[in-house]
Amino acid sequence: MRLSKYDLEQFDEVYLRSLPEERLQALSVKLLADLKEAHDRLNQTPLTSSRPPSTRAPWECERDGPEGDETEAVGPPPVEPPEAEVADPAEAVGSQRARRPGARRGAPAGRPGRAKGAPGVSRTQQFPVDSEQIHRPERCVGCGAPLHEGHEQRTYTARYELDVVPPGEGRKGFVRHQTKHLHREVRCGCGHWTRAKLGRGPAETEWTVALTEWHLAGPMLVALICSLALRLRLSRARIQEFLHDWLGLALSVATINQCLHEAGRAVAPVVQDELVQAVREAQLLHADETGWKPWGQPVWLWVMTCATATLFVVGRRTREVVQCILGETFGGWLMSDGYAAYRDYTWRLRCLAHIERKARGLKDSLERQARSFGSQVLTVIEPVMAAVYQARSSPPQVPLRTQHANSLHALFVACVQSAESAHEKTRQLARELLNYWDTLWVVLDHPELPLTNHEAERALQHWVIARRISQGTRTAQGTRAFANLASIIDTCRKRSASPWPYLAEVLRQRRKGLPAPSLPAPTP
Ligand SMILES: [Zn+2]
Repeated sequence: MRLSKYDLEQFDEVYLRSLPEERLQALSVKLLADLKEAHDRLNQTPLTSSRPPSTRAPWECERDGPEGDETEAVGPPPVEPPEAEVADPAEAVGSQRARRPGARRGAPAGRPGRAKGAPGVSRTQQFPVDSEQIHRPERCVGCGAPLHEGHEQRTYTARYELDVVPPGEGRKGFVRHQTKHLHREVRCGCGHWTRAKLGRGPAETEWTVALTEWHLAGPMLVALICSLALRLRLSRARIQEFLHDWLGLALSVATINQCLHEAGRAVAPVVQDELVQAVREAQLLHADETGWKPWGQPVWLWVMTCATATLFVVGRRTREVVQCILGETFGGWLMSDGYAAYRDYTWRLRCLAHIERKARGLKDSLERQARSFGSQVLTVIEPVMAAVYQARSSPPQVPLRTQHANSLHALFVACVQSAESAHEKTRQLARELLNYWDTLWVVLDHPELPLTNHEAERALQHWVIARRISQGTRTAQGTRAFANLASIIDTCRKRSASPWPYLAEVLRQRRKGLPAPSLPAPTP
């Protein structure tokens, strides 16, 4: 909507007739656009309303889980800037109720936050105001004329923002900083009062958490909370304790949770555009997956990592998820485990370390047949891996493929013989080798390619530990926020950039309703 309720209240026939033709036309364009939007909204039903394309990730082919929040408090809803003047600005941030660390956990059921019209709850904490920022509109919404400082003006609302900032020029660390934002309304020569708007991202049905400047926690404080939750793997309660003990901030667990969801929403377009594109254009991609348990349902946490990006996705389906992420035309090398979901891709690589581990297991078996097959696999795979490492520093005189042709042939025959073995593990490994035969030995022709999938396994490892601490994510929104933030954090780290200032900048822009800035460029 281009015009606020406050603007419309001021327009009447007398005002419109007073405007010169050109300015009246400009205003009509805004009125017409708002009228059309209002009509569309009236016609909207759950069936006809579609999300803007940017809000749905390509791998979310259909809804992945319940939207309802059962165990996790969503946190206070965004506090709307009041239409009328706010006498006590502290009232405006009142619904950011703080809970002392150690107090009983558990939010009341139902819609959280203050009901419309109910009295606000004053903040329990009062901090000194460190700086004041005045927001003025640049142009009159009615006639379009530029507005100057000299015009009559008044503050129509104020908000407080708590953030962390560096302690001074060139000094490291951070201190708590409270900014008082004064939003002014300015009276134009035509008589219309125009208000400095509060930034707000457009509504997206996929996210219940708002992206708005009307938020107690500043961008860098939200980034700090993300760092504590995701990188340092602290529980919400421990983050609350940290903020209380080190910054004197008493934020509720619900507010901390809301900050994490908001950050996850803010970076969503970056993940869905820039990151997916980087993964699709990768020349070499490592993929892996591990069990993840949001809402107690078994789904997978997928990782796709290349030289410049790491993408995490939580999804239930198998082949479709891979296809949705990689698209129709992925043409790079794809290193993965034996999971069938990756079989459609032409340029596949298999982790030889996986096969080696399985063969080692067979070699230690009590079954004679298994011991013999395991040893045979190892006598082929170990020299192949050694030769590949060797070839990277000094190219071989005779091609590796020729060097190992005889031993590979002997192993192939052994696999065919063991494919019907009575010993289950032996049978499985023999069949796996036969199924992936060509893929396994690609490294003989391309020794520069990796022998293992450690890159992807390492990328998952951090989050597997996080899952053990937090028992996974609990809501669809929390899961999405987690995967998005993990992707951004690991990609920034891969590009030798700190994720936190970038994350804060994304929040700053998205809270204004502006597009997110691009990811830090990959280091050459
Ligand atoms: Zn005007």
